[in-house]
Amino acid sequence: MQPMLAGLILAPFAANPDNSLGRQHDELPSPLRNAFQRDRDRIIHSTAFRRLEYKTQVFVNHEGDLFRTRLTHSLEVAQLARGIARTLNLHEDLTEAIALAHDLGHTPFGHAGQDALNDCMKDYGGFEHNLQSLRVVDKLEQRYAEFDGLNLTFELREGILKHCSIKNAKQLGDVGERFINKTSPSLEAQVTNFADEIAYNNHDVDDGLRSGLISIEQLQSVELFASQLDLVKSKYPKLEQKRLIHETIRRMINVLVVDLCTQSTDNINKISPQNSQDIRQAPYLVSFSNKIDKQNLALKQFLRKNLYQHYKVNRMSAKAERIVRDLFAVFLADIGLMPHEFQAYAKIDKARAVADYIAGMTDRFAIREHRRLFAVEDYL
Ligand code: MG
Repeated sequence: MQPMLAGLILAPFAANPDNSLGRQHDELPSPLRNAFQRDRDRIIHSTAFRRLEYKTQVFVNHEGDLFRTRLTHSLEVAQLARGIARTLNLHEDLTEAIALAHDLGHTPFGHAGQDALNDCMKDYGGFEHNLQSLRVVDKLEQRYAEFDGLNLTFELREGILKHCSIKNAKQLGDVGERFINKTSPSLEAQVTNFADEIAYNNHDVDDGLRSGLISIEQLQSVELFASQLDLVKSKYPKLEQKRLIHETIRRMINVLVVDLCTQSTDNINKISPQNSQDIRQAPYLVSFSNKIDKQNLALKQFLRKNLYQHYKVNRMSAKAERIVRDLFAVFLADIGLMPHEFQAYAKIDKARAVADYIAGMTDRFAIREHRRLFAVEDYL
C-alpha cells in the first residue's frame, strides 16, 4: 500500500458542505461550523441519541455493564468511519455524523424487537429501522421552533438510509431517488456502512467471548480470527486470555480497515472521479478485496450460527418479541394508554403512532412499561 497523505487534503470527489444539496427548511449557515458539523451536533443533542445508551444490539441492556449498547456501538462506528474517511481524504465530519445517527431508529431489544414490530406492522406498511432512523431525524425529534425533526442536510439523510424498497423510496422524495435511479450514495455514506459492519462483527466476537456463549476454540474455525490469534500467540506465548483476545481483535479490525482502504483506493483510482457527482454515477467504490470479503463473510456466518442463534440469545429474543407484541396490541386497542403527544398523531395514523412510541423505548423502559400494563399485582 502506498503511503497516503491522510487527511491533509479533501479529495475533489469528497462530499463538500459548501456544495451540500441543503436542508429541507432554509436556515442561516452557522458562523463557526460547517453544515456537517452542525448535523453531528444536532444528533448528539437529540433525545433519540441519548436513548441509545439503553438499547441493545445482541444482549439485553441489563445483562451486564461490559457489553456494547447501541451508544457505544455508534461511537465505535464513528471512530472507524473517521479513520477510514481521513485515509481516503473524504469528509470526516460527514462520516462521523452518519455513524452517530445510523442506529437512531432502532427499536428496543435489537433485531428481535425490530422483527416483532415489523410483524405487528405488516398490515400497516411495515417497520424498518433504517426508515425509522430517517423518521426520527425528519419528524419525531420535536425541539426546534420552526420545524419538526433536526433539519439535517441531504447528505446526512442520504447516509442514514442505507437500503430501502422501491415502494418506500417513492414516498421519500429526494433521498429515495437513488434507489429508483440505481445511483450510488456519497463515499462517506459507503464508508460508514463498512465501518458499521467492521464494528459489530468484531465487538460481537468480543462480547460473545466475554459472555461465554462462544469460545476461542470455536473461533479457530474462522480464518480471520485464527490467523491473527496465531500471530499473537507466536509473539506472546504466555499471554493471559483477556489480553490475548484484545490483541487478536484489534489485529482483525486492522486487517479489515487496511484492506478496505487499499481496495477502495484502487477502485477509486480506476474510475478517477472528478467530483461528487461522478461518485453517484459510479458503482459502489468502497469495498473489501475478494479475499477479505470472503473471510469477513465467514466470520458473519459463524456469528449468526453460534452467537445470534445461541439458545440463550434465543430466550432473550423470545421474551423481547413477546413484550413488543403485547405492547403493540394493548396500545392499538386503546390509544388512550399512550402519552398525549402520541395520541395526537394516533388520530391521523394509529398504527404508525404506536410503532413510533414503541420504537422510541429503551430496553428497560419497554420492560417497565410492560410490567405497568400487565402485572396487575405490582401496580394496583
Ligand atoms: Mg449499526
